[in-house]
Amino acid sequence: MRILDTPATIKNPPERFTGDVWLDLLVTPQDGDQRMVVGLVRFAPGARTAWHRHARGQTLHVLAGVALVQSRGQAVVEVRPGQRVYCPPGEEHWHGATPDAFMEHLAMSEAADDPDQSTEWLALVTDDEYAAR
Ligand code: MN
Repeated sequence: MRILDTPATIKNPPERFTGDVWLDLLVTPQDGDQRMVVGLVRFAPGARTAWHRHARGQTLHVLAGVALVQSRGQAVVEVRPGQRVYCPPGEEHWHGATPDAFMEHLAMSEAADDPDQSTEWLALVTDDEYAAR
């Protein structure tokens, strides 16, 4: 066993996120064919991901604030601290903070065979899409 290095907090790129979103990569594959990836993600008020989909799905566990999560064609769902929301493989969705408060969640997923294909990023969530709830 070994204590893992603590990577620096990453500011998520504006091509894939609206507003300020920071990522701490807590778990990444270390050995062999491991796939587990866990990120601690912090969103400023009003910040959100772009539309995207995960090759092997994703589970979010909300730690603070209220997460807004929407799958394409469905209503925006509010997810509260202590709750988890699961997005199946290939389902287009976004997640973010409410307009007035920070939000923090764990994002848990498994890498695709080609790790670069784990998440497919699509269009940014417009202000109209974000406000439609
Ligand atoms: Mn996601």
